[in-house]
Amino acid sequence: MAARLLNGQAIADQIRAEVRPAIDAFTARAGRPPGLGIVLVGDDPASAIYVRLKLKSAGENGLRADLERLPASASLAELVSVVDRLNRSDAHDGILVQSPLPDAMGPDAERRVFDAIAAEKDVDGFHPTSVGRLVQNRPTIAAGTPSGVIELLERSGIGIASQRAVVIGRSDIVGKPMALLLLHRNATVTICHSRTTDLAVVARQADILVSAIGRPGFVTADFVKPGATVIDVGTTHVTDRATVERLYIAGSVRRETFNRRGSLVVGDVHPEVVDVAGALTPVPGGVGPLTVVMLLKNTLRAAELRLENRGR
Ligand code: NAP
Repeated sequence: MAARLLNGQAIADQIRAEVRPAIDAFTARAGRPPGLGIVLVGDDPASAIYVRLKLKSAGENGLRADLERLPASASLAELVSVVDRLNRSDAHDGILVQSPLPDAMGPDAERRVFDAIAAEKDVDGFHPTSVGRLVQNRPTIAAGTPSGVIELLERSGIGIASQRAVVIGRSDIVGKPMALLLLHRNATVTICHSRTTDLAVVARQADILVSAIGRPGFVTADFVKPGATVIDVGTTHVTDRATVERLYIAGSVRRETFNRRGSLVVGDVHPEVVDVAGALTPVPGGVGPLTVVMLLKNTLRAAELRLENRGR
């Protein structure tokens, strides 16, 4: 039997409908909307799309959202000075610096920029203070994508406690926080990465398998225990025909879309997994919409905490 497809868009819409009245209530109470400053450096097309989506979603849902653009040639010091300005701004409760940053900024640029964001405005959950609080399972703002996965699981009625969870990928922004969020909900968690041996064997033990690596179709049917829940976080913009032909049969909707557009957004999970998994997130339309809506939630939370702290 084919896996149940978990509709991330519908769940994101549900969360948005819940958050909107709280945003309006904040605006009435504070005399201003929750404010988000987004910083985009350079011209990476995928980043530009993500930023546009985030700005649109923020604007449509009652947030103030401002975009700060810097050229790809900007220095790290220039970027940090924009962040500093947003740190001092009364109108901004949240700051998001879109990654990846241009390579020319240096290998540790992202870390240094995330460190520079005021912890109270860290709506991405990347600041060491937020990460430390997450590790200790204290209240905090956690990274949007893994938090969105938890919402998706819980609202789809998929139990986490006592389940075996395997997370493929150990990045600071997806894999590690994902593993911690599952652990804090009492899953038994294994993290895999590029040096894991017998990855398929480890993955096949999972009741909940999360893949966040960015390799199109990497997770094949032999990685999946029959009936498992498979969460595909990977999103790769594929432009080469060979990859598309390896993954999708001639005449399929995905192949036709590629023929029309010349590119396709592809997840880590091979299409054949639909015949083995019990539940599966599609790409697109699975985890992506949750990431966008969690930013609204996190910005509102940061705004409320700032308002409360000011009242003390
Ligand atoms: P990243 O920083 O590049 O990390 C990738 C991780 O995958 C690393 O831990 C790496 O292992 C592991 N990996 C790479 N190749 C592997 C292989 N062959 N076998 C096992 N592990 C392998 O990426 P990221 O920022 O976490 O993002 C991961 C994916 O999620 C990307 O496709 C990204 O576009 C997507 N994403 C989607 C959303 C969304 O909203 N849907 C949000 C964020 C990210 P090592 O540590 O050993 O190198």
